[in-house]
Amino acid sequence: MTDHLDAATAGPVRDLHAFIAGLPKAELHVHHVGSASPRIVSELAARHPDSKVPTDPEALADYFTFTDFAHFIEVYLSVVDLIRTPEDVRLLTYEVARELARQQVRYAELTITPFSSTRRGIDERAFMDAIEDARKAAETEFGTVLRWCFDIPGEAGLESAEETARLATDDRLRPEGLVSFGLGGPEIGVPRPQFKPYFDRAIAAGLHSVPHAGETTGPETVWDALNELGAERIGHGTSSARDPELLRHLAEQRIALEVCPTSNIATRAVTTLDEHPIKEFTRAGVLVTINSDDPPMFGTDLNNEYAVAARLLGLDEQGLAGLAKNAVEASFMDAAGKKRLADEIDTYTASWLAS
Ligand SMILES: [Zn+2]
Repeated sequence: MTDHLDAATAGPVRDLHAFIAGLPKAELHVHHVGSASPRIVSELAARHPDSKVPTDPEALADYFTFTDFAHFIEVYLSVVDLIRTPEDVRLLTYEVARELARQQVRYAELTITPFSSTRRGIDERAFMDAIEDARKAAETEFGTVLRWCFDIPGEAGLESAEETARLATDDRLRPEGLVSFGLGGPEIGVPRPQFKPYFDRAIAAGLHSVPHAGETTGPETVWDALNELGAERIGHGTSSARDPELLRHLAEQRIALEVCPTSNIATRAVTTLDEHPIKEFTRAGVLVTINSDDPPMFGTDLNNEYAVAARLLGLDEQGLAGLAKNAVEASFMDAAGKKRLADEIDTYTASWLAS
């Protein structure tokens, strides 16, 4: 584990770990392939012995120790290379749900990049069936509700945008669990406005808009995401802190930021956790949600991100329950689902504090 995680476990936060571990939660910003833990990668690597990814858990732990960001990308792509068949897709999705359930995540919007799979020759119908089959099994067996966000890998250009919009809006393909449309990848050199026609199509088809913005570029990218792509939530939005008018707008419109603290350090979007703008966000009244992004790849999980947030914001149990309820409010669950999960959070918190 790295320095910032040690820092997160120091002091009074330590007493909150058990509370966080049992707290019912919603996760709104977590990537499908980026959630492949060493255990899952080992299973996938065993299915494809010709890959260079080790299967032995100890060797894998070394493999997952990144020397720098370029190394992280290299490892990430080697994991992408292990997803070759619909059965691989199903295994990954189902096992990711198991790990979310272990952390008491009741509801997750998982960001999936179908273009990475269909481009590699996985049949699109079989891909949709695999994720849907895993979704239904996870709900029955683990009690975790999964929903999908299909995202455009920005670095792959407009061809990938066209393909992602087609897969998300074609009635014969679109999976039942799909609720939103996103945009990931690098921001520098990939202006958001060029993706407007694809977001327009997705929104017209009833999908919510949740692009990444303002992670590695300035607040103008967040304005572009709002004005050009109709963003209803912002992935990261870290640089919003530099624009008071933007913070006011986000707060007034209840547009949530999907904050992923450890990811921001790992990718150097923020230099140190103590400099993370999460405090400015909450001070400005912005709806802050806590998320994990690519958890095993950044040596974290959602529970750890809540512990980090507790330390940065000086939160107690009630404060943590408030963060968990922010995610419920900002989710795309229906009203009944939101009420159920918010009530469960309140009941858990009350009984914890009474004990
Ligand atoms: Zn992300």
